[in-house]
Amino acid sequence: MEFDVVIAGGGPNGLMLSCELALSGVRPLVLEKRTGELSEQRANGMVGQVVRLFERRGLYQRLTGDGKPPEPAPNFMFAAYPLGLSELSDNPVYTVLVPQRRIEAMLAERALELGVVIEKGRELGGFTQKDDRVVLDDGRETRYLIGADGGHSTVRKLASIDFPGVTTDRTVSRVAHVSVPAEYVDRGGLRVPGFGVIPPFLHQRTERGLIAYAPFPNGPSMISVSTLNIPEPDAPFTIEELREAFAYVAGFDIPFGPSDKGDLLRRTSGRNTRIADRYRDGRVFLVGDAAHVHGAIGGPGLNLGLQDAANLGWKLAAAVRGWAPEGLLDTYESERRPAAERVTMHTQAQTALVGPGPEITALRVLFGELLSEPSVVRRLAGLIAGSDVTYDMGETSALAGHFGPDLGEATRSGRPLLVDNTGTLAPVAAPWRDRVDVISTPLDGATALLVRPDCYVAWASREATPDPAALRRAMTRWFSAPGSAAA
Ligand SMILES: Cc1cc2nc3c(=O)[nH]c(=O)nc-3n(C[C@H](O)[C@H](O)[C@H](O)COP(=O)(O)OP(=O)(O)OC[C@H]3O[C@@H](n4cnc5c(N)ncnc54)[C@H](O)[C@@H]3O)c2cc1C
Repeated sequence: MEFDVVIAGGGPNGLMLSCELALSGVRPLVLEKRTGELSEQRANGMVGQVVRLFERRGLYQRLTGDGKPPEPAPNFMFAAYPLGLSELSDNPVYTVLVPQRRIEAMLAERALELGVVIEKGRELGGFTQKDDRVVLDDGRETRYLIGADGGHSTVRKLASIDFPGVTTDRTVSRVAHVSVPAEYVDRGGLRVPGFGVIPPFLHQRTERGLIAYAPFPNGPSMISVSTLNIPEPDAPFTIEELREAFAYVAGFDIPFGPSDKGDLLRRTSGRNTRIADRYRDGRVFLVGDAAHVHGAIGGPGLNLGLQDAANLGWKLAAAVRGWAPEGLLDTYESERRPAAERVTMHTQAQTALVGPGPEITALRVLFGELLSEPSVVRRLAGLIAGSDVTYDMGETSALAGHFGPDLGEATRSGRPLLVDNTGTLAPVAAPWRDRVDVISTPLDGATALLVRPDCYVAWASREATPDPAALRRAMTRWFSAPGSAAA
């Protein structure tokens, strides 16, 4: 068997998983059906905990190129309400504004550096599962097959995994790169006579629909309009149609035209909100959009999918290398399904809150009043960041189950880490030396931490002399009894 893991789909999530596997010592094969650039333009950036995960792996710095660490965002939005976050202590909302194409190109480059093999122009069309392997349609064999092949996942369908949820056909979204005449640009926003200034990067809801204006600093400006009441015509989508929809929603026709800096021109109708019935069928796993799809409002997709990849990567590598404890692979779904459920919940809630009509306007008044409570803003920030989803680590310390603190370059290796600032734990950890690194670095609120490769805290102590038995239990729970297999 040349490859222990084959990943169908070289989008962001398949590539991220390939990097995580490679960091953990397993060289996967990625099959990508496209031959050219990895995907059409979709996301304009990433929001949430994934930004910190990228920072931990040194990937954030590769995207921004400036070496500075990410800062929490002072503002974000929820259901077209501006959210002021700068007063929050421990604000979890981090953002990075980069097109998905660049994220994919960066991940592909990193994957190749790590020795991942990417076969382009190769569409997986079938497979058969045997007890100890999966046979692909070209006869090659692998121990695990991953469906990272997007919302229409072939792997999911071939594995007979249902995709329950809802499809709504009512909304039509229109979006394009545009150039806006200078007289309509005001303080970075869009001046709409009779309406006011639409602030940049913030959805604007009216009783007729939703509009947004995004003047990207290093790229073309984008205008998007979502409506319920203008049906999708048969004719191809044009900038003129976008202008008409904009005028319908905002009440004024701004003479914007095509941009010479970008080529986005897209009309979509309907929206799917679905989560796979199971994330696993035997030796087949689903990751990213193959496992869940939802509305794009607020841009939660990459935060969800890329963290799926980080969660599954080290566990799968442990299984391949023979030291995965019993049940470890099943924690992929038990930990990540709740994250998908939070995202499908809040994208549907946001979609309802930005809908047209006077009842929604009334609901928005009430919701707006609730937003004056700092505790509500805090709760929404956790929801947007995905940091309100914690994992069951079988113990109750305040840090366990949460995304761990910044440990400097140590987390770049993707190896399990024991941070010991007590000087007492090295002998306890010694039998796991082949799979857990021991370091010492300043910590807030703890004297020792056990951190999984996905950067989640598995165990923590505040004691000057932590209980060695508790640490042994945690190490065994996540990394198996020492010497259980060659690491
Ligand atoms: C309009 C739009 C805007 C969005 N905006 C945002 C945003 O601002 N922020 C955000 O975080 N998310 C956003 N998202 C969501 C984000 O784009 C997706 O969550 C993300 O692309 C999912 O990545 P993936 O790797 O799971 O799947 P995909 O990106 O769909 O990649 C799947 C890959 O698999 C390949 N493939 C498919 N079938 C096969 C096969 N049988 N064999 C081999 N290869 C195959 C495809 O060619 C593709 O490259 C947006 C999505 C859309 C549609």
